[in-house]
Amino acid sequence: MSTTFETIGVMPQIVKALQEIGFSKPTDIQEKAIPLIKQGKDLIGMSKTGSGKTAAFGIPLIEMITPGRGVQAIILAPTRELVHQISIELKKFSKYLSCHIASVFGGVAMNPQIQEMSHAEIIVATPGRMLDHLQRRTVSLSAIKFFVLDEADKMVEMGFIEDVERILSATSVERQIILFGATLSKEIEGIRNNHMHQPVTVEAEMHVKENFLEQYYYNVDQREKFSLLVHLLKKEKRDLVIIFCSKRSTVELLTKNLRLQGIKADMLHGKMTQNKRLHVIDQFHAGKATILVASSVAARGLDIKDVSHVFNYDLAQDPQEYVHRIGRTARAGESGKAITLLGYQDHDTFRQILSRYHLTVHELPKEKYPLLGFNTHFEDRERRDGGFHRGSRFPRDERRPFPPRRRNYSRSMTRD
Ligand code: ADP
Ligand code: MG
Repeated sequence: MSTTFETIGVMPQIVKALQEIGFSKPTDIQEKAIPLIKQGKDLIGMSKTGSGKTAAFGIPLIEMITPGRGVQAIILAPTRELVHQISIELKKFSKYLSCHIASVFGGVAMNPQIQEMSHAEIIVATPGRMLDHLQRRTVSLSAIKFFVLDEADKMVEMGFIEDVERILSATSVERQIILFGATLSKEIEGIRNNHMHQPVTVEAEMHVKENFLEQYYYNVDQREKFSLLVHLLKKEKRDLVIIFCSKRSTVELLTKNLRLQGIKADMLHGKMTQNKRLHVIDQFHAGKATILVASSVAARGLDIKDVSHVFNYDLAQDPQEYVHRIGRTARAGESGKAITLLGYQDHDTFRQILSRYHLTVHELPKEKYPLLGFNTHFEDRERRDGGFHRGSRFPRDERRPFPPRRRNYSRSMTRD
């Protein structure tokens, strides 16, 4: 008999809500983690991106909280977008139950969050803003029963681990700790050894079958990457597309250059205002925007359906990042293509990625494409506020005869 949400003991109200959103049976990680979490075990869940971790911790939390008894669970996630996404997902699961979920992240006003937290049972938060609230004593976590860390490896990578530890220490030692991620690092082992009570570790198979994801690369001269990309965007039969760049400055330049070529592209990076980022993501979700140029961090963990292509315009230094990036496509059993544009300087990094993750990536033969210019100087004002409004272009005659002086050079080079 195959496992269903009923057979692993999920409440009928949740099963009904899950059916409505097309979850007919649990994924591997859900099947393993949900019963253990409900038994009160501290748990470390390791599974790849796209394997359904949100429901693996979300479902048992919703079942175990008592409505109207104040904050009982905190979920920490590394980015604002993830916090937003987890809240939305949890709200769907709890459609037929009483459960209030507060989203807490930086870049927006504190007061509405304080209001929201005051009648929530579950808080989903980024570590920075959560600490802010704790320091201002606008919320107390001393009575929480569940502490969840999502994308724990990313938290470490982004330098949030100390914040996480500080938040942990604001909770009672009796809370149950649940930690999810794709890999286990030294720092995570630190949390396990210092804070967790006899934790169980579960690992799970990927939900999305790997063969639904086809991975390719092109060897291309750095100076021709842009021309090749434009050619491929025009040639490939595509649905939604995410183009990853490792630096914010590249995200901005690439978006602007694509627009100059008449290709409607939107950008997503960490220095944009929160509202702008959420707006861009919503447009993309709704299919109103189809090409998203993003920095790795800004798009980390985002779950957007119908992403047919992920392009790596360049590679991040961290090999793990490649796996996270390509995980944005071929989600929930759909097919997808990941195409990496390999310049000469990317070869070492790429070799490391391939050997570390045993990936099969096929080289594609050279293409013929027209060579296009790539403008590296745009008005400062536009650089600063994260870009133009959608659809705006730069007609030739509006461009400056001389490039403006590059101000803020060092800032524009920072990774977000
Ligand atoms: P992860 O956090 O492991 O990267 P997510 O929780 O974001 O994965 O889930 C990945 C995708 O799979 C989402 O679109 C989610 O709605 C979908 N999904 C999760 N669990 C199931 C399930 N049991 N059945 C069908 N789809 C699912
Ligand atoms: Mg996730």
